[in-house]
Amino acid sequence: MEFIDLNRYGEIGSNSTFLSIGPFNILIDSGLHPKKLGKDSLPDFNKIQGQSIDLIILTHCHLDHLGSLPIIARSHPEAPILTSLPNLSLAPRMLRNSINVMKRQREEYGMTDYPLYVHRDIDHIKRSIIALPFEKSEFFYKDKDTIEVKLHPSGHVVGASAIEIIYKGKRIVHTGDVLFEAQRTLPGAYLPNGKIDSLFLETTRGATVRAKESTRENEIKQLIDSINEILDQDGTCLIPVFALGRMQELFKIILESMQFGILRKAPVYSTGLGMDICNYFDKISNRTGLINFDLKILKQLDIKTIDPKLRPGKNIKKKGIYIVSSGMLVERTPSYNVAASLLNTASNGIFFIGYCDPDTPGGQLLANKDAESFYFNAFDYLSPIRASIKKFDLSGHADRDSLIDYTVQAEPKTIVLTHGENEARNWFQENLNHHLPNAQIIDPIPGQSYPL
Ligand SMILES: [Zn+2]
Ligand SMILES: [Zn+2]
Repeated sequence: MEFIDLNRYGEIGSNSTFLSIGPFNILIDSGLHPKKLGKDSLPDFNKIQGQSIDLIILTHCHLDHLGSLPIIARSHPEAPILTSLPNLSLAPRMLRNSINVMKRQREEYGMTDYPLYVHRDIDHIKRSIIALPFEKSEFFYKDKDTIEVKLHPSGHVVGASAIEIIYKGKRIVHTGDVLFEAQRTLPGAYLPNGKIDSLFLETTRGATVRAKESTRENEIKQLIDSINEILDQDGTCLIPVFALGRMQELFKIILESMQFGILRKAPVYSTGLGMDICNYFDKISNRTGLINFDLKILKQLDIKTIDPKLRPGKNIKKKGIYIVSSGMLVERTPSYNVAASLLNTASNGIFFIGYCDPDTPGGQLLANKDAESFYFNAFDYLSPIRASIKKFDLSGHADRDSLIDYTVQAEPKTIVLTHGENEARNWFQENLNHHLPNAQIIDPIPGQSYPL
């Protein structure tokens, strides 16, 4: 047994792991790096050139796990794609949006080879998907050998799965992205119990300390209090969110808070892919019961569209609560444009609720929130920082301590660190060494093959 981390730059980017287990070659996830362009944004598929792929498994539909799937599926058209039921509809939707984004980038950055895939490739993916209910085994056969694969709900976002692979009595588990705590729309993770031989562990929050008094409900309460403060001073509030998952979660939180009278009634604005994802969540909720969301939430919130003529530095006329993507204020996205209008006015607020990569505009604004000004590169606009900028801990990823607890009870012989910045991985390496001194802990060098 061996594996290669194909994520070209380590950290969190184009997540993809290649596993050779007996005669089976399995690819887990095929992501697209959100901050890179062209070939740089893809997993390093050269490292598996000439190898067959017997099975592709998709943990969930965020683009850092899904975004390059059409490319690898095109060169391995016979490989089935195993994933959970909700992803049957979510994966094609997210990928079609990705084509549109690449078409825009073709113009903006002169990327002549964009889009990297077309709708025909996504039709192929739809035909290749085997949708598997959670906790149900699927068996695959090759050269008289059998391998068993099971998906377990990993919280995080609807459809997110941890993967359990059993081969000749050995158990290999890949956590995918995990959240143990329940969200308003989604139950928490329920990962496989008992001893594991090899564990691939996400490490997103390895460098994040959660204050003892900080619970998820407490963070929600503080967020609502802060929105109230902004509305009381006649300001506008921007909450940047991921289109898939966070946006719908926040709609529900905002609606329930207004209904319970703890949040002032105010117009809510949104736009883009996340609004369409609401339709998908509604259907997934009806068909599978795996998420608690329906379209009545949008109707009751009476969501309004954003003024298309926003100008950097010119305060927004339509005041209220803006819940828009991207969650990290990536350039030229609605949240970036709204932020450029709000930042210059003291009565406004920009409230982050999830993970922001330090290199993204969101990450940079958070790191420099006490500075005098912030430069909006895409507009060549230097804005004074007058609006209040805050961060609330409503991450879609598990606290590092809960991941350590899970790992310790599973007593894996080998632990592979994935999906984290260097600092985060280092924390896990140290702590797991301490708790499980006999385990082999691998922080893989991208592209290198390791025995399992
Ligand atoms: Zn994710
Ligand atoms: Zn991820």
